Amino acid sequence: MRCWYDFHIHTALSPCGDNDMTPNNIVNMAKIKGLDAIAVTDHNSVKNAKAVMEAGTLIGLTVIPGMEIETSEEIHVVALFPHIDCAVYAGDEVAKHLPPAKNRPDIFGEQLIMDKEDNVVGCEEQMLITATDLDIFEVFKLVKSAGGVAYPAHVDRHSYSVLSNLGFIPPELDTKFIEISKNVTDVNQYVSNKNLEKYNLIFSSDAHYLWDISEKIHGFDVEQPSVEKIIDFFK
Ligand SMILES: [Zn+2]
Ligand SMILES: [Zn+2]
Repeated sequence: MRCWYDFHIHTALSPCGDNDMTPNNIVNMAKIKGLDAIAVTDHNSVKNAKAVMEAGTLIGLTVIPGMEIETSEEIHVVALFPHIDCAVYAGDEVAKHLPPAKNRPDIFGEQLIMDKEDNVVGCEEQMLITATDLDIFEVFKLVKSAGGVAYPAHVDRHSYSVLSNLGFIPPELDTKFIEISKNVTDVNQYVSNKNLEKYNLIFSSDAHYLWDISEKIHGFDVEQPSVEKIIDFFK
């Protein structure tokens, strides 16, 4: 079947994510848009992933636990995991590699932790929107060791992307996929200009607001849109 997806969505846990990005708001908006599967990818944390997965289960939407990890080169990497336990393991590892800095909600925004009924059950104090001390290879290794898959986020962006910060995608980087942002209007042209033909392209929204969640535009064929089968697709 065709699986319509959006694999880059922030919740209210990301300081830059709108506080309306609650588990139920996200899954219901994705459902209204006609998507089959989404991924929750907060900055350097997975602490809302379980709640969104549970909210998704209630309405029959597949939710992949994920994370947007920032490398020491300030490159954003999307990580997707086959199970919440794998995601929690990776989240704990990433936490060990963040600088000991507290979030400033007045400047960066709140970092809300929620349950499956959208109740705020905590606030993350660690500043999430910052770089880890892991380089891009170490981040890919960590994600793999947790059983997940990683690929460079929004490669076309002028900041926080592998192309903006390194100038190229290291050929030895263990990835078959790259994410292209919606800022690219002529994808074929972009791919050929940048010599990116060898990569499979993922188009996700990087939604920080409900209305940014993707329409039913990007899909791929998969046996069934379960978390495990989707992760297999990436492998
Ligand atoms: Zn990003
Ligand atoms: Zn993002």
